[in-house]
Amino acid sequence: MDTQHPLLASLNPKQQQAVGADERNMLVLAGAGSGKTRVLVHRIAYLLQHEQLSPFSILAVTFTNKAAAEMRGRIEQLIGSSTRAMWIGTFHGLAHRLLRAHYLEVGLPQSFQILDSDDQLRMVKRIIKDMNLDEKRWPPKQAMWYINAKKDEGLRPHHIDGYDLTEQTLKAIYDAYQVACDRAGLVDFAELLLRAYELLRNNRFVREHYQRRFRHILVDEFQDTNAIQYAWIKLLSGVGVPDVDPADRNYVTIVGDDDQSIYGWRGARVENIQQFIKDYDDVLTIRLEQNYRSTDVILRAANQVIANNNDRLGKELWTEADGGELIDLYTAFNELDEARYIAGQIERWHEHGNALQDVAILYRSNAQSRVLEEAMLHARIPYRIYGGLRFFDRQEVKDALAYLRLISNRDDDAAFERAHNTPARGIGNTTLQKIRDHARNEQISLWQSAKQLIQDKVLNGRASNAVQAFLDLITGLEDETSEYSLGRQTDTVIKRSGLMAMYESEKGEKAQTRVENLKELVSACDNFDSFDDHEEDLPPLQAFLAHAALESGETQADQHQDAVQMMTLHSAKGLEFPLVFMTGVEEGMFPSQQSMDEAGRLEEERRLAYVGMTRAMQKLVITYAEQRRVYGQDMLHRASRFIGEMPSDALNPIRMGRVARSSENSQPAMGRFHSGASHETFQQTGFSLGQRVRHVKFGEGTVLNYEGSGPQSRIQVNFDEVGAKWLVVAYARLERC
Ligand code: ATP
Ligand code: MG
Repeated sequence: MDTQHPLLASLNPKQQQAVGADERNMLVLAGAGSGKTRVLVHRIAYLLQHEQLSPFSILAVTFTNKAAAEMRGRIEQLIGSSTRAMWIGTFHGLAHRLLRAHYLEVGLPQSFQILDSDDQLRMVKRIIKDMNLDEKRWPPKQAMWYINAKKDEGLRPHHIDGYDLTEQTLKAIYDAYQVACDRAGLVDFAELLLRAYELLRNNRFVREHYQRRFRHILVDEFQDTNAIQYAWIKLLSGVGVPDVDPADRNYVTIVGDDDQSIYGWRGARVENIQQFIKDYDDVLTIRLEQNYRSTDVILRAANQVIANNNDRLGKELWTEADGGELIDLYTAFNELDEARYIAGQIERWHEHGNALQDVAILYRSNAQSRVLEEAMLHARIPYRIYGGLRFFDRQEVKDALAYLRLISNRDDDAAFERAHNTPARGIGNTTLQKIRDHARNEQISLWQSAKQLIQDKVLNGRASNAVQAFLDLITGLEDETSEYSLGRQTDTVIKRSGLMAMYESEKGEKAQTRVENLKELVSACDNFDSFDDHEEDLPPLQAFLAHAALESGETQADQHQDAVQMMTLHSAKGLEFPLVFMTGVEEGMFPSQQSMDEAGRLEEERRLAYVGMTRAMQKLVITYAEQRRVYGQDMLHRASRFIGEMPSDALNPIRMGRVARSSENSQPAMGRFHSGASHETFQQTGFSLGQRVRHVKFGEGTVLNYEGSGPQSRIQVNFDEVGAKWLVVAYARLERC
């Protein structure tokens, strides 16, 4: 191996060994920040450049679309030429691509659409209702989880025995749901994977084609693959397929870290790593031990936390970077105080000339983001949320997409349900129910059913006219816009359908935002380049709809503004940031309440803590709140056990002392506050944080916060009856109690 090769020179010896190895199966097992993803990127570049492989013969699987785009960019930079022909994407994206290319073989209509989880839930709900089952006894969400779990295991309804009534019923729901999806040409996320798997399994020609094509398959974040994804890779690589000559098998490289397996709750199987060594021949296993990402303090703390888990494959991690700043541990009085502290720290960071985009705020669940967002807004700190409500998940955007979907595929029942009476056009519930019933009895789509009911004069005159007008609208829109550019087509659809007028006529800021989002959708269409998604064979509208369904909220508007990144711990996997805030680190939040009674789940939470901590490069700040409002209830929490598991000499505790609730005389001893109002001016008001006060109208409450000084000073009180409110101290006539 030529270690002077430009692609190897910037790597350590272990990394070089992996990147420069002969063509073979490989496992790179290593802790966070040790360069696994970097190895994968360099390996691909090396295969292209040194082994002279064509980009055509490489399949790379990453965890997010963003990671895929970054990987492609990095490889192109390294080798200096285009990688257009290379398949890089997520499992879902690649499965989608296979299904588009082979829709006939898998029995899908050419215009099939992807059903996102929101639409999936509605479909399941409808099925449960159609089956006359009680939603309370058979909650749609649980049925949906059941269906997805079975699909992730590769199971169709007929594979399921159904021993007891519960399972029999769930199986029947699964069955009816699948029939409805097939009829409507709809494919949910789990179905993408399962269908693509069945395509390869059942169709020898297709399988052989791809087996010949993909000489190398490389998978990042392998610890989070589920059963069907594993089976998929196995089929593609020709392992365990009886009629494949071992000499024709392809090479698979997987990289992963068992300590970062955090999707067990969604069917991921960390055992796939060991299974890989058993199933594949002559696997070269490489362990990387040097961490290049974090300071020694951060690494030491993360290592010590994860050491509390059992059954680890065992890895050591060290770094050359010595020392580093201690991990700040901020004990907040409540979640508002926590958010405000974070905003203050970010302001300071920014004032020192650092970029906002180098900061990440991580939380356990999406619900925590609201208070944090408010604090950012209040402090005028731009932020971007990843993986929250996606642009394409917003109500108005989904409304517009429903029209586009119907134009593309009339049998898309989910789109029909959404669009038929938005905006209102006189198609009432009774009419819709008739359409649904007829569709179910005849096993046809809602669109077909509506047409038949009109023809057979089953609907009364008014209803019939209303439905006919809707059908004509869609057909007319297709005729009119089929030759338009995507942007113009969408613009026309939004206007002609009445959606724009409907939202324009609504009042308030929310409606305003909706109108803006509809316009944004048109620009998104204008800017959409199907080449980016490598769906160049698809008609633009279909490529765009697939993009809208598969994009997971990683790419959002305002890409270029310098903004703080906010996301759940789960979506931070694989990323790194100079400054990281890990928030809500309390017993009951993180680890979550549900995970505390089950050893397996608790360990998964601990891995999540490890993932969170190891995102930080220079500085990690951990915060927790002693009191937090969860679902409208104030909960008292202790610091998370994970904090207790960190070495205390790595932590710098910061605490805002506070008064006992009923004590009048004790003084608030505040640590850091960054509101612009000094502690002294606040004291002059005669109130202190945490103090109980009474208001004539709002009743009793607790002082949470303050800002400003003199006559402008304002105080925030969390009232027992009406919640938190900001009041001007001079007018509020608050009394201590
Ligand atoms: P994770 O488990 O979090 O996904 P990883 O193992 O994939 O982490 P990378 O993201 O590939 O780690 O690398 C972490 C950081 O270290 C990156 O900034 C990367 O560029 C850098 N790095 C990796 N190897 C080296 C090296 N040999 N020299 C310099 N920097 C390196
Ligand atoms: Mg990585």
